[in-house]
Amino acid sequence: MPDYQKQNIYSTTFKHRSVTMVLGQLYRHALLRVAPSRLFCRRLTGGQPRAEASAMNFVHGRKDLPPRSSSTELYDLLNPATGETLCRFPMTSREETGHVIKTAVDAFPAWASVPATERGLVLRRAAALIRERREELAVLEAKDTGKPIYEARIDMDSGWQCLDFFASMTQTMSGQHIPLGTQAFVYTRREPLGVCAGIGAWNFPFQGACWKSAPALACGNTMVFKPSPLAPLTTVCLAELYLEAGLPPGAFCVVQGSVETGEALCNHPAVAKVSCTGSVNTGVQVLKQVAEGLKPVTLELGGKSPLVIFADCDVENSINGALMANFLSQGQVCSNATRVFVERPLLDTFLERIEKRVRAIVPGDPLREETRMGALISAEHLNRVLQYVEGARVEGARVVCGGERFVPKEHSLQGGFYMTPCILANCRDEMRVVREEVFGPVMSVLSFDTEDEVVCRANSSSFGLSSGVFTRDLSRAHRVAAALQAGSCYINNFNIFPMEMPVGGYKMSGLGRENGAATIEHYSQLKSVYVELGDVESTL
Ligand code: NAD
Repeated sequence: MPDYQKQNIYSTTFKHRSVTMVLGQLYRHALLRVAPSRLFCRRLTGGQPRAEASAMNFVHGRKDLPPRSSSTELYDLLNPATGETLCRFPMTSREETGHVIKTAVDAFPAWASVPATERGLVLRRAAALIRERREELAVLEAKDTGKPIYEARIDMDSGWQCLDFFASMTQTMSGQHIPLGTQAFVYTRREPLGVCAGIGAWNFPFQGACWKSAPALACGNTMVFKPSPLAPLTTVCLAELYLEAGLPPGAFCVVQGSVETGEALCNHPAVAKVSCTGSVNTGVQVLKQVAEGLKPVTLELGGKSPLVIFADCDVENSINGALMANFLSQGQVCSNATRVFVERPLLDTFLERIEKRVRAIVPGDPLREETRMGALISAEHLNRVLQYVEGARVEGARVVCGGERFVPKEHSLQGGFYMTPCILANCRDEMRVVREEVFGPVMSVLSFDTEDEVVCRANSSSFGLSSGVFTRDLSRAHRVAAALQAGSCYINNFNIFPMEMPVGGYKMSGLGRENGAATIEHYSQLKSVYVELGDVESTL
């Protein structure tokens, strides 16, 4: 595994925190300017917005901003770090989405008939282009999402590693030969599905587009991808890189838009499969939309994962793990373990030590090297997260630190959507903040006494995305990993995503898997061919 994946980001970066810690204490209590409370996007009323980029559709090998004369509308999007206009983008209409799907339909037969290893070569070239342009892509991603630049770079690495992984898979995607005595045999063919629709969330826009498109293209499908309207920029860059790498025009298209555009993709008869990352509610809607066409789906949905910390663990490691499990990307990570169960004898020590570390995380400009927490995605989302903290306080939780709106001292950042990372103690299982996905930098700490009790409480959730356990007891680690009802379980680490590891949800957290060899099953279908060498013996 490369160094940047192996390193524990928090343990290396927290060494240089004394200055930022002081700044945090100064500004946490400052008079905070309230970010504008309005929708993240608004209809353009005329004139050009002060936008530094336009998020385009990408259709048949070129960027395309649908004309305003059509039913497609243009919106503008705010930069989470500043609250100013970042870009404008189209809400692609149903009709226009149909046109884009048609180009992917047209591109399908040729791409499907390219030998698999040559498809792999295209993916490898695209991976190399991502590596080459890593910095410019990461800057754009940090602006689009508000996440720190150091994290955006890791997302780019995850992107090219995914393309490389599925490029390699093309060399082993073969069928089976099944002998049936001497007079007959069966062979199986792994065939593509056709046009796949990818629908992305806003927290990992580029990485998410890579995780869906690489296996789809490796299997010989074409794809129409709709990014989240809250983070529309970098998926278009991925489409350009694919084209430059040799992918035929139309094989990877981008349509910008929101719910209506997503519905148009799900409902279109020429779309053979839908892969959607989003909230549980959206997943349920998508499933209903594809039911009539009986289309296979991959659903990567929300979570409320447990992290179980036993008193016999390496405490420093468990604290680093809990930080990784709660505060990357401003806490806006689906797999986050926001329910941190700490065995009672360790509780006070754990809280004392983690509080120091969390107080040292000062939100700031996503583009600065030293920033370890940027801005939340929108004013509305920030307000929602702050309301969860307030609700927890009312229900009896103790706010150990953070949980307040934050205004950085730089004038240019004062319209951004920042908050201080928060630890809640004295939490109980029935509290709203413990049951629901907050999707912000808010860690709930709960205590427990026995292994059976904590497993039972950890499993009493309708989510089942991820889980984790910290202990030095090898038997207990594997016993608990087996008992936790989740699509993945980390033993003595958290939120590490090597490409080889399939990820996905149990229960309401999703259907299907992304990454790892298992993904090939979700982007292809198996045909059995029976071959008769003897005479046909009719039973009629
Ligand atoms: P969201 O559900 O609001 O939107 C996700 C995407 O679905 C967007 O592109 C949106 O436009 C589209 N969409 C919404 N309704 C639709 C419909 N009826 N038909 C088709 N498309 C529709 O989610 P979000 O706010 O963008 O992202 C946050 C959520 O995503 C969180 O719940 C988080 O846990 C989840 N998430 C899950 C994973 C995972 O791998 N399991 C990864 C990242 C995010």
